[in-house]
Amino acid sequence: MTILQELLKELRLAAILANYQRIAKNDVEKIGYLQDLASIEVARRREGSVRARIAAARFPVVKTIDTFDFSAQSDLPKLKILEILDCQFIADRRNVVFLGPPGVGKTHLATAIGVAACTRGYRVAFMTAADLLMTLMAEKREHRLKQRMKLLDRLDLLIIDELGYIPFDREATDLLFQVISHRYELRSLILTTNLDFPEWTSVFPDAGAASAVVDRIVHHASVFELNGSSYRLATKKSSSASGKRAKSP
Ligand code: ADP
Ligand code: MG
Repeated sequence: MTILQELLKELRLAAILANYQRIAKNDVEKIGYLQDLASIEVARRREGSVRARIAAARFPVVKTIDTFDFSAQSDLPKLKILEILDCQFIADRRNVVFLGPPGVGKTHLATAIGVAACTRGYRVAFMTAADLLMTLMAEKREHRLKQRMKLLDRLDLLIIDELGYIPFDREATDLLFQVISHRYELRSLILTTNLDFPEWTSVFPDAGAASAVVDRIVHHASVFELNGSSYRLATKKSSSASGKRAKSP
């Protein structure tokens, strides 16, 4: 199949595909003209669907890796992160975990990977752990948990942000465990947390539940530890410092 034929097929222009050669009578210029137009239309539609996927993912703020300052995270393996951004981990049904204190860029990195996944055509959703569990508990009360789980299962990538900020009761833990088991070895997950794995017992009602969850998440996962001080505070300090300098004569 020629490039033009592939473009027309992607645009579902079956009648044009069937007739353009007859009408163009092998005129290279006419065919080139049609191919230019078709590729413009394909590009525009692809862009539109990427935008739609990014909107559907509900990132708190859309961020990309271009604005991530790797020099602030010197221990972070930059090449490995760039490799994750090519999204092979989604095809391989692997997980990614970002671990570290507040303000070090966990949400930024998780978002950047999520946006990269959207541009590659994957279905993505971003939720905080608290929002996810609140939604699930509400759906459970309204006997709609099954439908919600099906929707979650359809996502190629689920990003669960901020696990560990609030402790979970037994019901919430069971729900989280269900989400994670459903995805296990079938679909990918990105998780950000302020807790080191041994500390997960503090979020879950018992050590057994904590290790069951941790086990399934980290079995096929790339785990990145971020450390250092909050980027938010660092940039705040340096901008107020430069503000002072600006005022002094
Ligand atoms: P966390 O999720 O770890 O608490 P965030 O990703 O929300 O941290 O980062 C806090 C703020 O600082 C965000 O605005 C984020 O874009 C920015 N930030 C953090 N680390 C970096 C970095 N290394 N380069 C650029 N911006 C960063
Ligand atoms: Mg965060």
